[in-house]
Amino acid sequence: MTTNDAKPNDPQYPMTTFLSSVLRPHIATLTPYSSARDEYTGTEGVFLDANENALGSATSSGQYNRYPDPHQTAIKAKLAPLKGVQPNQVFLGNGSDEPIDLLIRATCRPGIDNIVLLPPTYGMYEVSARLNDVAVRKVSLTPDYQLDLPAVLAAIDAQTKVVWICSPNNPTGNLIDPAAIRQVLDAAKTALVVVDEAYIDFAGPGYTSWTAQLGTYPNLVVLQTFSKAWGLAALRLGMCFASPELIGVLNVIKPPYNISAPTQALALDALDHVAEKEQMVADTLIERAQLADQLGTLPNVQHIFPSDANFLLVRFDDADAVFEQLIEQKVIVRNRSSVTRCEGCLRITVGSPAENARLLDVLQTIAVLN
Ligand SMILES: *Cc1c(COP(=O)(O)O)cnc(C)c1O
Repeated sequence: MTTNDAKPNDPQYPMTTFLSSVLRPHIATLTPYSSARDEYTGTEGVFLDANENALGSATSSGQYNRYPDPHQTAIKAKLAPLKGVQPNQVFLGNGSDEPIDLLIRATCRPGIDNIVLLPPTYGMYEVSARLNDVAVRKVSLTPDYQLDLPAVLAAIDAQTKVVWICSPNNPTGNLIDPAAIRQVLDAAKTALVVVDEAYIDFAGPGYTSWTAQLGTYPNLVVLQTFSKAWGLAALRLGMCFASPELIGVLNVIKPPYNISAPTQALALDALDHVAEKEQMVADTLIERAQLADQLGTLPNVQHIFPSDANFLLVRFDDADAVFEQLIEQKVIVRNRSSVTRCEGCLRITVGSPAENARLLDVLQTIAVLN
């Protein structure tokens, strides 16, 4: 076992009072599957321990015949300093979907516990909860898309195990007031507070990631992803940052080889190209501002919500008609017009300059026709 991976049964990482109050009781006593790569961690030798195909693989390269590093040690070693955390505060999942599901399964007893969601927000929190037969309590954001703090605090009870806060929020694009998040962190004594920062790279200057607060709040979990700013949605690689103790639990309950070798190799490659990521973010921010300006000149656009993400939420006179007419011209956006507090709105991802020009062209024609 490498020193990077906290296991809850390590004396080095005693189960904190907080963690034992939030975890499902049986989870705290689980022993992980011990893989071949756990029992012998050297890299040199004749490996006859994992029933791999020693002759190669049925691909043109002949590669990928060996199981990948179950703990993704090399990625964590590069990623942790970039994020200002320790490697043992990092969990990597098959997309953010995997930590979302594992966090619910680690903490929520089916049919007994609940999670709190703040709609309009990302759909996967509810999907994972329902899949696990976990009750979902919804507290709508205020009309300006901030936390309704008294209502959120009132919704949290002893059976609440996770509060999901998405900041910048999808689909509204705005940051959630940090002071309000602090109050939730302080109040949630037996619940995790997950801040989903999938869009953090696009957030305006002065905003710092909640990862900086991990040492202060044992109940804080931060999610980020390689799917947006890094441009690697096809890889399926999500990041979860939390206390070493909670990360240790996620490591125990994850499928042993959850991150494939090609994914690990490409993630390492990406981490050597931070400047390229930053450039794409800068370019996207310029495009976002131009797109917002130009959308603002269309007669059927009522409102463009301020965005700290790589998309714009836009209210149209007749969103459903605009959505259908865009599709006829093979321009596909997300129709959010039936979502509470997003009435009349389409969510438009900031595209390449050519894609944005095409979108605006079609929207202009639609505006003239209507
Ligand atoms: C896109 C997105 C993610 C990323 O999900 P992956 O499974 O990592 O691709 C996570 N949270 C929110 C709110 C998102 O919009």
